[in-house]
Amino acid sequence: MPTASSHLLREPSPIVLSVCTSLGNLCRCERGTIVAGTTVLLVLHSSSSALRESSVTWPSRLHLRTRRLIMSKQLQARRLNGIDHNPWVEFIRLAKEYDVVNLGQGFPDFSPPDFAVQAFQQATSGDFMLNQYTMAFGYPPLTKILASFFGKLLGQELDPLKNMLVTVGAYGALFTAFQALVDEGDEVIIIEPAFDCYEPMTLMAGGRPVFVSLKPSPAAKGQLESSNDWQLDPTELASKFTPRTKALVLNTPNNPLGKVFSKKELELVADLCQQHDVLCISDEVYQWLVYDGHQHVSIASLPGMWERTLTIGSAGKSFSATGWKVGWVMGPDRILKHLRTVHQNSIFHCPTQAQAAVAQCFEREQQHFGQPSSYFLQLPQAMKLNRDHMIRSLQSVGLKPLIPQGSYFLIADISDFKSKMPNLPGAEDEPYDRRFAKWMIKNKGLVAIPVSIFFSQPHQKDFDHYIRFCFVKDEATLQAMDERLQKWKKELQP
Ligand code: PMP
Ligand code: GLN
Repeated sequence: MPTASSHLLREPSPIVLSVCTSLGNLCRCERGTIVAGTTVLLVLHSSSSALRESSVTWPSRLHLRTRRLIMSKQLQARRLNGIDHNPWVEFIRLAKEYDVVNLGQGFPDFSPPDFAVQAFQQATSGDFMLNQYTMAFGYPPLTKILASFFGKLLGQELDPLKNMLVTVGAYGALFTAFQALVDEGDEVIIIEPAFDCYEPMTLMAGGRPVFVSLKPSPAAKGQLESSNDWQLDPTELASKFTPRTKALVLNTPNNPLGKVFSKKELELVADLCQQHDVLCISDEVYQWLVYDGHQHVSIASLPGMWERTLTIGSAGKSFSATGWKVGWVMGPDRILKHLRTVHQNSIFHCPTQAQAAVAQCFEREQQHFGQPSSYFLQLPQAMKLNRDHMIRSLQSVGLKPLIPQGSYFLIADISDFKSKMPNLPGAEDEPYDRRFAKWMIKNKGLVAIPVSIFFSQPHQKDFDHYIRFCFVKDEATLQAMDERLQKWKKELQP
């Protein structure tokens, strides 16, 4: 029996029934026949949107004599143009296709701490009202503890109802911020390499991304480069501010570089934001992950910055539980009230049980803060060992890691491979690092993320010789990585 995917469209007034199909003759003609047994997708349509959909096996032969309604207009909203490709979707799929050690996407492959697991279990098996809606802008015990915890860190008296918004992950916080603050034609300065969603989120809000790159300077001879060697050029940064600049996006510690912005660098950014009356969206999801005595500084804590800064965090990153998807954004009420408008008309609120679990985790952390038992101290201690392990191992095959000061990522320089094997398979215009990452997945069973995805299109060619590895991984994963690298090393020997 032939199978066709067809649409039965109904327009409200006057009501016209139509059938179209994406397959075969029915698709292109206004009159035709559907034979019995054909699978048909029925879509009940208003003039602007699909109201209901169901798939049915058509019971009998049907002659079409009605008007065909295939949309000739562009289907997707213009704001989606050019942003349909997503590197995470692509590389997560690739990682699943091969037998690999996955050091690509940033998620821990070990359990969250016991107190966090117990908090989640309690949230799902305790008070049955946690199965129900909670307050739109955050489960009250969570907004209360977040306000108290971060208020102390930022030196601000925070009101849980006015200065804190709980979101679906840090992604949700970012999206809500862009939607609330960026207008058609507004410019948004993005410091690259940058977490890849800042650009599409700016575009979806109608804004114009304006990029400024951190520039690497060579390491001393015989030394490994460090993320610290990547610096902003103050003159170039200043030149990016125009009367249309609405916001600057900062990410410290930075994904993918692991750079922790120094107080001096943040002061430069802060001065320019104040001089040009610009908002700062500060993504600080890796704030606990800093190494070698470096300090994370929140730009909102600098003089004059609280009033123009949104600070974004993630429970997924804080408690090694990325699947919980609880994030938050804090800032002054006069800015947050606009984010609340977006939130109340879109997500409304995040899952109550996950919020209850995160509240308990922060209550626990507040009691242990600054002590050796604090997870916010234990996690970076453990990740420093992982970082150093990975740095040693990657060098065995000629990958040149840069030492990150923060986050759980490091980037490795693949220039030597680029000169030795320049012609890896791939599309002609595909940046080298993408081709290399795919080659490495298929041939070496190791997943890393090409760093050019963290750069705007015009700059990708200049930064196509790095790949990003994630080291928030279990001991067994790092051992498996070592085995793959040893095998690779043997293959390199003549
Ligand atoms: N910001 C940065 C810099 C990230 O790396 C990520 C990825 N997790 C996010 C935001 C999104 O965080 P979440 O998983 O909490 O949505
Ligand atoms: N933030 C994570 C990373 O950088 C994951 C991003 C994602 O999966 N969309 O790896």
